[in-house]
Amino acid sequence: MSRPAFSDLAVAGVRSLKPYVPGKPVEELERQYGVTNAIKLASNENPLGASPKALAAIHDNLTQLERYPDDGAYTLKNLLAKQHGVRPEQITLGNGSSNLLELAARVFVAPEHEVVFAQYSFLLYPIIVQAIGATSVVVAAKNFGHDLDAMCAAINANTKLVFIANPNNPTGTWLTRTALEKFFDNVPPHVMIVMDEAYFEFGKALGLDDYADAMVWLDKYPNVIVTRTFSKAYGLAGIRAGYAVSHPEVASLLSRVRAPFNVNSLALVAAQAALGDHAHLSNTQDVNKKGLAQLTRGLTQRGFTVIPSAANFVCVDVKTNAAQVYEGLLREGVIVRPVAGLAQHLRITVGRPEENARVIAALCKVTRHD
Ligand SMILES: *Cc1c(COP(=O)(O)O)cnc(C)c1O
Repeated sequence: MSRPAFSDLAVAGVRSLKPYVPGKPVEELERQYGVTNAIKLASNENPLGASPKALAAIHDNLTQLERYPDDGAYTLKNLLAKQHGVRPEQITLGNGSSNLLELAARVFVAPEHEVVFAQYSFLLYPIIVQAIGATSVVVAAKNFGHDLDAMCAAINANTKLVFIANPNNPTGTWLTRTALEKFFDNVPPHVMIVMDEAYFEFGKALGLDDYADAMVWLDKYPNVIVTRTFSKAYGLAGIRAGYAVSHPEVASLLSRVRAPFNVNSLALVAAQAALGDHAHLSNTQDVNKKGLAQLTRGLTQRGFTVIPSAANFVCVDVKTNAAQVYEGLLREGVIVRPVAGLAQHLRITVGRPEENARVIAALCKVTRHD
């Protein structure tokens, strides 16, 4: 009997799935384009690197790798609980916070359900929904950000989950505490709201008016799940650690579907140490605040339009075909990120001052703007 094509055997959602496209690694660019000294401002990574305390903790634990990690993550959960004023039973750890976004969908969403999220938001949301075979309801953006009234109107009896990235990736927009509270008041209690706060720490440091911290809503709105990560402000993207804070019953459901030992032992100790490294976090926030200002001013002065950002990147209108500019920048040894659905925008991660200056200069050269 002849073998059927494996893609015909895959479930429908997976068959038509297009994989998540990560930012191009520096080594790949240097190999493909024959350039040296390339810089990557494409994946919102921390330009200062990981906390030295996290690196030391990893080093100190290298002799224990024959052992399984502490699956209950006692120490890290207690540290996080203390930091956020919640109980350890409210915390679920993940292999990066993207793991938790997926677990939330697996717990609450079946193929007959709908998941609501915004246009120009995190590209992983539609992938997660489609893999389950459920329906994505993409709500048109307003000023490149979430239109909460329209998102509320898109909720119906089949809606099980809403994903909100705040600050939003890839546009950098943010929602105020007042606007979100009004939204939560109007969302029916059968709908889970995942507040994806991967960039929380960056916006927090900017002193923005009415800036939202979703942790404060967990008691009042038990259908809220907050996700945070060690990948961005804590500089640990490579080790994969993130967490969700939720109602304890929700945390227990999330734990049922996670793989055992989904956070490795080095990630646990690195995250613990990073949480205690206040100097590295505040340095990161400070460098980001200055870098955001440098990029925004530099790009605006040269005639580009920058969407105001509360994160560690800017989304910039390059006023011409962004795919061509992206290619031109690669040839200059600068990796940025195209933005799905926005043909004239590029997303640029805030780097160190000299990296920011280099991307501004390269962008001018490639677009012949001076
Ligand atoms: C980077 C990012 C995440 C988290 O990524 P992990 O590395 O898996 O923690 C989550 N949401 C958004 C919007 C992001 O940009």
